Amino acid sequence: MTKKELVFLGPPASGKGTQTDRLSKELNYPHVDTGSLLRKAIADGTEDGKTAKSYIEKGQLVPVEIVASIIKTRLKEQDCANGFILDGFPRSTEQAEMLEEMLKEIDADNNDVDFKVIYFDIPQDLLLDRIVTRRSCPKCGRIYNIKTLKPKKEGICDDCGVELTQRKDDTEETAKLRFETYFKETAPLIDFYDKKGSLKKIDANGEINVVWDRMMEVI
Ligand code: AMP
Repeated sequence: MTKKELVFLGPPASGKGTQTDRLSKELNYPHVDTGSLLRKAIADGTEDGKTAKSYIEKGQLVPVEIVASIIKTRLKEQDCANGFILDGFPRSTEQAEMLEEMLKEIDADNNDVDFKVIYFDIPQDLLLDRIVTRRSCPKCGRIYNIKTLKPKKEGICDDCGVELTQRKDDTEETAKLRFETYFKETAPLIDFYDKKGSLKKIDANGEINVVWDRMMEVI
């Protein structure tokens, strides 16, 4: 059976989290999301979490050693053996090169691998508003939006019944720094993966179901 390795690339709030959550449930591949793994490390009070917190609050990339070790451990787990959905990693050329090395090692005995990078292309002017109106469930991670993707009961997760929260880095000030980081460090990956022939670009501007259909066409 072909192992499917799907990497998602795109600016903050481009909709990757919403689509990959659903994709993970439908395809039954784990959703490996570095942002959530780091937020969990912070909540657990680990040493890595403590270091990560100060970078996340400044909208900067967390040091590569921390992220790479978290990712490598996760991708080696048994539930990733048939495929995985990687969201939020790599975020720089250095991380992309590290991922290549990791996958060479992990897939050493597997010649049947389908590696794709799905790039969410979306105009930047839509994103800031999406970020400041985003809310999420602290228990299951489900993403909502107070304008466009409301829960059934205001402020409460449909699935868990717990109160929705706003991420600390989803303020206008930190979001602007995250965009700067994205354009400087992450956007060069579009060209990096295009040259390797792995890039699938989709128009990520549109209704959730419309973007879903566009994504399914390239997967
Ligand atoms: P996200 O949930 O993907 O928006 O990520 C939130 C924050 O976590 C980012 O702004 C970074 O500070 C940090 N982060 C997530 N993924 C990475 C990564 N691959 N490398 C470094 N920092 C990361």
